[in-house]
Amino acid sequence: MIFCPKCGSLLMPKKEKNTTVLSCKCGYTNKKESFAAIKETMVNDSRKIEIVGNEEEKTLPLTEGECGRCGHKKAYYWTVQTRASDEPETKFLKCQKCAHTWRDYA
Ligand SMILES: [Zn+2]
Ligand SMILES: [Zn+2]
Repeated sequence: MIFCPKCGSLLMPKKEKNTTVLSCKCGYTNKKESFAAIKETMVNDSRKIEIVGNEEEKTLPLTEGECGRCGHKKAYYWTVQTRASDEPETKFLKCQKCAHTWRDYA
């Protein structure tokens, strides 16, 4: 899963010309993730989107954070500035072990 760096919403694949890009309802488009990085498969009539070959998380910093799914205590994190600039940044964490992603409201 990839989140919008502007508003923190989940990016959705969108067909654009002859390629598929990840875009957000706020207007943000991730041009970096090309068609090759998105795998679309049909599973029981529902569309399953997988991001493959995403190198980005390897460069994300690690922090202390307990995964709600597997209990692992290290997670990658990044922050997103929400709408108003006077609001605090929203922190996202992604489990180092199982890739479970969640918002940190602390
Ligand atoms: Zn957005
Ligand atoms: Zn986990």
